[in-house]
Amino acid sequence: MKTNFQTLPLSNDMIQNLDNIGYTQMTPVQSETLPLILQGKDVIAQAKTGSGKTAAFGIGLLNKLQVKKFRVQALVLCPTRELADQVAKELRNIAKFAHNIKILTLCGGAAFGPQLGSLRHGAHIIVGTPGRILKHLNKETLSLENLETLVLDEADRMLDMGFIEEIDKVLEYAPSERQTLLFSATYTNEITFISDRIQRDAISVKTASTEVANKIQEIFYESSEHNKINTLVNIFSTFKPENIIVFTNTKIVAKELAENLAKNKIDALAIHGDLEQYERNDVLVQFSNKSCPVLIATDVAARGLDIKELSMVVNYDVPHTEETYTHRIGRTGRAGAEGIAITLYNEEEIEDVMEYKNDTRVFEGAESLKKVNGFEMKPQNVTLVIEGGKKDKLRAGDLLGALTGDVGLKGSSIGKIDIYDRQAYVAIERELIDEAHKKLSNSKIKNKKFSVWVL
Ligand code: ADP
Ligand code: MG
Repeated sequence: MKTNFQTLPLSNDMIQNLDNIGYTQMTPVQSETLPLILQGKDVIAQAKTGSGKTAAFGIGLLNKLQVKKFRVQALVLCPTRELADQVAKELRNIAKFAHNIKILTLCGGAAFGPQLGSLRHGAHIIVGTPGRILKHLNKETLSLENLETLVLDEADRMLDMGFIEEIDKVLEYAPSERQTLLFSATYTNEITFISDRIQRDAISVKTASTEVANKIQEIFYESSEHNKINTLVNIFSTFKPENIIVFTNTKIVAKELAENLAKNKIDALAIHGDLEQYERNDVLVQFSNKSCPVLIATDVAARGLDIKELSMVVNYDVPHTEETYTHRIGRTGRAGAEGIAITLYNEEEIEDVMEYKNDTRVFEGAESLKKVNGFEMKPQNVTLVIEGGKKDKLRAGDLLGALTGDVGLKGSSIGKIDIYDRQAYVAIERELIDEAHKKLSNSKIKNKKFSVWVL
């Protein structure tokens, strides 16, 4: 793969400026996508954070920009204001090859008035969050009539945050004849689904560094039955995993284990067949938005769970079949990074477990694990529930707007947003939850008061 920018059909001014800002060689995602982007193709690009995705689409959209035509020709949608600011900064750097390229950010949480003023002065490129862009489109203060390039940056995060509806609505304003680029750090079914709807003959590019198959380190620990909880706690303190699913063979064990871990200051929730649908939902939302690090599940309850990127899977009970084993541990292993799969067994299960022996699986005694006095596992976030949802026409952008506006949180303190028919869940950085709860309870969202509580 050629990595020199001069191998691309770019103007001399563009290449000269890239050199001036210190970009001499293309990064892998740039060398794989830019030839396609410059041909005008729709591209889905997946590459890890920090790989230079912004310049990949930035060079593409700037290279075909008609500077003399003072109309919005490119729109970049981002999940948060901070990311939009970063993207705009990078674009301004790349845009230095020409004079007078106007790049405008339009994000929620910022005052509307000044944005109107800036829009009246015109812009070539808009970078912003879907909710606010949509608001301007609805008010006809922004027109996409002359749009040539649409970019969804951090598309996976936007989908996670529930922006899908806003994105769809924004697209209704865009001409169908356009180039659409989709950038994401992960490649999921949702990504292919949205690509199918908004792109044309999209070419998908995954850079080599993220193509590494999931590597799973498999370790078996022998532990007496009465010592199993301590062994589990020691596993957590030794490996310090971020998020874990612990499998048990029965729901009784699942329930007891959650209670016992709580006594050991490990934040854990269980899902099993006895939960009501809404309880199950509360648990899953908290686990997936990082409000609870440990999920305990039976095989039946875990069926259909779409949770990826687990750092660890633990078989608290030896599964009944090797097929179940493979299925359970397949949930760990992040792209590139190693996942850990741990199985606990007692003396009576030694014979069963011997069937699992192979060259790569490691068998150890539980005494090799680290013991950390006072070890605790607290979640990164806490979930705020808002008693309003799709039926109240609440969108992720409205919540994000209220939280970054009136409540005064930074976008980076807000995690996943899940919106259901009558409720919405927002993950908030743990240290800020009380303040966020208090202030959101006292403020209005879309001019309406909603009940808010902490899950
Ligand atoms: P991503 O969006 O993939 O997370 P960014 O676009 O934010 O990554 O880029 C990460 C960093 O790499 C930025 O500081 C950017 O200026 C720098 N960068 C991008 N492309 C190049 C390049 N070709 N040469 C040197 N630095 C680059
Ligand atoms: Mg980026």
